Amino acid sequence: MFRAHYFGNTVSRAVVVRISSARFISIQKIKETLQQFLGTNSKTQIPYSHVCQVGDPVLRGRAIKVNPEVIKTAEFQKVVKHLTNVMRTYNSFGLSGPQIGLPWQIFVVECTENHMKGVEQSVIKAQEISLVPTTVFINPELKVVDHTPITFYEGCESVRGFTAAVPRAYEVDITALNVTGKQFTWKARGWAARIVQHEYDHLQGRLYLDKMDLKTFHCAAWYKINKNNGKVHLSYWPSYWKK
Ligand SMILES: [Zn+2]
Repeated sequence: MFRAHYFGNTVSRAVVVRISSARFISIQKIKETLQQFLGTNSKTQIPYSHVCQVGDPVLRGRAIKVNPEVIKTAEFQKVVKHLTNVMRTYNSFGLSGPQIGLPWQIFVVECTENHMKGVEQSVIKAQEISLVPTTVFINPELKVVDHTPITFYEGCESVRGFTAAVPRAYEVDITALNVTGKQFTWKARGWAARIVQHEYDHLQGRLYLDKMDLKTFHCAAWYKINKNNGKVHLSYWPSYWKK
């Protein structure tokens, strides 16, 4: 069974992710997994509604390419919607398949007015933050157009509670299949380029930890921890921390 074979435990999952890196995922296998996801079995977990954390092997394998033929299926579209919903639940700029337990080459990004609320104009200007419409990238290929390294702080839902300064290329072109299976190329600069490089890295099994300026890595709540005598709770489920 696909799920048992791929996801039965973290060890087998890591192995399969590694050896399958160059193959397309078959329609049959994608359907088996998705049917479980869509089924009524409440024990079905993948794709998760939470975000996997660093240490989970699914975050360190190279994701499998999606067979273009399955993109238009209702099952795959449901996964795309689910990925987008989880991203929004976490109020994140982007989220990739591996982060919800699916080692597939897919990610979604967006930057809304809501994201930009409360961000100072000077920061928006310095980091070239701009609105990004919700965009799905399937089987993406990334080409760096301008290698100039731009360093700003970034975080990752899979490294919850921490942040670090990470150098990223200033401008990239990314070619991928969209949500209808059509190929498109997207040019991104500044903040948008940072987001897609971050998400693209997830599909290669890379995390920002691999590229960060190590000395800048820190717990985002260190000040709050001192102020509250250590009594700070870190949740891995957003509906809890939003209360
Ligand atoms: Zn991330």
